[in-house]
Amino acid sequence: MSKILLLHTGGTIGMASGPEGLAPARGLVETAIATLAPKGVDIAVEAFDPLLDSADIGPQHWNRIVTRIAGFRGKGVVVTHGTDTMTFTGAALAQALQSIDLPVVLCGAMQPLGSGGDAEGNLALAIRHAMQGAPGIWLAFAGQVLSAVGLVKHDTRAAQSFRSVPQTLPEGPFRPRLFQPLRLAILTLSPGLPVAALGAALAELDGAVLRVFGAGTVMADPALHRLLAAATSRGCRLRAVSQCETGGLVPGAYGAGAPLWRAGVENGGTETPEAALARLWIEMSERGD
Ligand code: ASP
Repeated sequence: MSKILLLHTGGTIGMASGPEGLAPARGLVETAIATLAPKGVDIAVEAFDPLLDSADIGPQHWNRIVTRIAGFRGKGVVVTHGTDTMTFTGAALAQALQSIDLPVVLCGAMQPLGSGGDAEGNLALAIRHAMQGAPGIWLAFAGQVLSAVGLVKHDTRAAQSFRSVPQTLPEGPFRPRLFQPLRLAILTLSPGLPVAALGAALAELDGAVLRVFGAGTVMADPALHRLLAAATSRGCRLRAVSQCETGGLVPGAYGAGAPLWRAGVENGGTETPEAALARLWIEMSERGD
């Protein structure tokens, strides 16, 4: 009998209406699995307690998922998860479990199980891919199986609400990685942003993903340039990514980008902000920052 592990973290897929809106409800995924499981497949459901809206999922949960999957011996894994932070967990698992030799399939839904929406179809697709799909970290959603490392959630309501931006991960043998407690964040530049506000944020951080403009430009404010240089020289890692979804950064394309690279800001290339954050987190965790 083929063995599949289903880690249920929470999310709309397993929610029911409550006094303040949808909230996680126990037992929905377990009930659905009883009818959706193909013959000859043993699906073991392990549910988080408490179940979480994905707004509450973070590095300690990524570590829990990574550790459980790394210790699993079976055909494949399904992780049911809310869609709101699916892009973060996708990037985190794809990098922490890089080169894994079984399929790990993230799955969620825009409507709960039992509501006549997308949940049953998404779950059935995830189970199929966990049984027969290629190894790696995937998202099964709206009839598609997408690479999970560069996910973008582009719609808050449509059944088809994800796409995936191709990412390049460094090659290497399978070695599960964990996320240490670090103070990291994604910061976005915007016209008129007070430099002091950015400075206050950086003062509280060990590192940050900086969402800069276009192919890699920043405002021509010497105070901003000094702030970035001071941050990197105290060891605060800054990794730039573009506010554009695709195309990536092109250092040297514009003079307005030169202060970034002079300040020691790293080039995140075509990384999504979530992929850049996961990368910073893993690299800094391994270096013991
Ligand atoms: N708020 C929900 C969550 O991310 C949304 C969803 O699952 O679609 O957990």
